[in-house]
Amino acid sequence: MDCLFCSIANGTVPSTKIYENESVYAFADIDPQAPFHCIIIPKAHIDSAAAINKENSAVIAKIFEAAAEIAREQKLENGFRIVTNCGRDGGQTVGHLHFHMLAGRLLAWPPG
Ligand code: AMP
Ligand code: ZN
Repeated sequence: MDCLFCSIANGTVPSTKIYENESVYAFADIDPQAPFHCIIIPKAHIDSAAAINKENSAVIAKIFEAAAEIAREQKLENGFRIVTNCGRDGGQTVGHLHFHMLAGRLLAWPPG
């Protein structure tokens, strides 16, 4: 299967690593929307948030454990936002489940 984020997770496509453990990989977004913007992914392919089920959902806890660890390592004391875009209307452009972690400026709410 030809998947950009699977290729990033297995090192075929280069990325700037921010965090890694056995099931999760985080890397710098190539087009950052905030002073800190990383993408957190499960290493195992899941299409999107709509494809989360009882069999694969344990990795979602791992992703949020990783996010809290990243926040400590990167000293994001003022807070951060985690977003997952799902499907066309959600603005998803890469078909491998991923979470944007944004920080370093005051983020508008609600999003556009
Ligand atoms: P989304 O639009 O929610 O699917 O998010 C995809 C994100 O992946 C965008 O923020 C892109 O800037 C980012 N992106 C695409 N290709 C790469 C890449 N090769 N390395 C790092 N980030 C990427
Ligand atoms: Zn994938």
